Amino acid sequence: MDATPACPVFFSTAFDGGNGELTDAALSDDAVYTARLNMGKEPFTEGTDKREHHQWFYFKASNLSGVARCVFKIVNAGSSSYPAAWPGTWAVASFGGQEEWVRTPTTYDAETGELCVTVEIPPHQPHVYVAYFAPFTYEQHLALIADCASARAPDGTSPLCAVSTLALTAQGREVQMITAGSGPLKLWFIARQHPGESMAEWWAKGFLERLLSADDDLARLLRTQATIRCVPNMCPDGAVLGHLRTNACGANLNREWAPTGDYMAPTVERSPEVHAVLAAVTAIGCDLFVDVHGDEELPHIFFAGAQGIPGWNDRHAELYRLFATAQLKACPAFQVEHGYGNEEIGEANMAICSDHMADQFDCLAVTLEMPYKDTLELREPAQGWSAPRCEKLGASMLEAVPTPANIYVIALRFNWAVAPF
Ligand code: ZN
Repeated sequence: MDATPACPVFFSTAFDGGNGELTDAALSDDAVYTARLNMGKEPFTEGTDKREHHQWFYFKASNLSGVARCVFKIVNAGSSSYPAAWPGTWAVASFGGQEEWVRTPTTYDAETGELCVTVEIPPHQPHVYVAYFAPFTYEQHLALIADCASARAPDGTSPLCAVSTLALTAQGREVQMITAGSGPLKLWFIARQHPGESMAEWWAKGFLERLLSADDDLARLLRTQATIRCVPNMCPDGAVLGHLRTNACGANLNREWAPTGDYMAPTVERSPEVHAVLAAVTAIGCDLFVDVHGDEELPHIFFAGAQGIPGWNDRHAELYRLFATAQLKACPAFQVEHGYGNEEIGEANMAICSDHMADQFDCLAVTLEMPYKDTLELREPAQGWSAPRCEKLGASMLEAVPTPANIYVIALRFNWAVAPF
């Protein structure tokens, strides 16, 4: 009996964050492996989404010895959550472990709705991983939390943060929060409500590593002026399941912060991640809230502010301007020209996290968006917007956060009678 398979290349997605369902594959005589696949769909999302999201892909081909090229045809790209995002998108590929990612040629046919990813396979490479953006796996998440927990002050013994678990997800994973500093300002940072926006957790890694640096004077100062809380992965279930947009229940977490129209309030059963964070912020209070995301279509880094909340006023506007100006200075890839545009006062969707926070706590609250593609302001053609650039942007946030020192100046200028936060 001949046990040799017709095609010796194996296709797999059975790993953390994997997504891709193979329909057929073949290896040609000229050593080109061609696979056709679908992105697996997420559970149906109630509320206004009313769809089965799919946009994230992450898969592996192995036994590539003797294969010159892999061509992956993602045939349901046209029906995905954001088909307009595909033109100009290049997938990433990794030949080693999953540490180093490079951009690989990707084309989109709007007629057929097929996204085609081509990877040239160097000699002696046994396998290749392909993904929408550099993944940030649950193992990496746990390692990040462990690194934070082991950060020590210069005395070598005092921890620089506390690690707490706010809730368990539907599948039993922890929603974890890092708390650092002891100052009176209450600063909140959350990332990756949309689990396929892995750039958000790369951002959080860079932010936390600098925040918990024993010898970075800016971090030391911020820790005396503020108490900083960070949830680096708001949707661990969705991340492990290879979702773009939703948790294991199909909840779009960034549409569950308040009941508004078709949107729902968070519940322990459906969106424990939001329910727990909202309860913590309500108990503790909030002076600044930053919610970190990725945008599939726009090739820019930008803030989406809360200009549409009913109570938007000059103080909100000046705090927002100060924050955006400081972030612009701290990272030249950030910009303020392009984004979602400002809503009219009263038109905000209060089910969205940053709008709800700005309204509820009368504070500065923004959504930070990063691209999947690249930044037009500061292109990096080989890598596009990449994991290391996300980390650097996260670290730069320490230079942009409003502190008592710089707020005092504008408080005087605007003659605010009360503390500006
Ligand atoms: Zn998002």
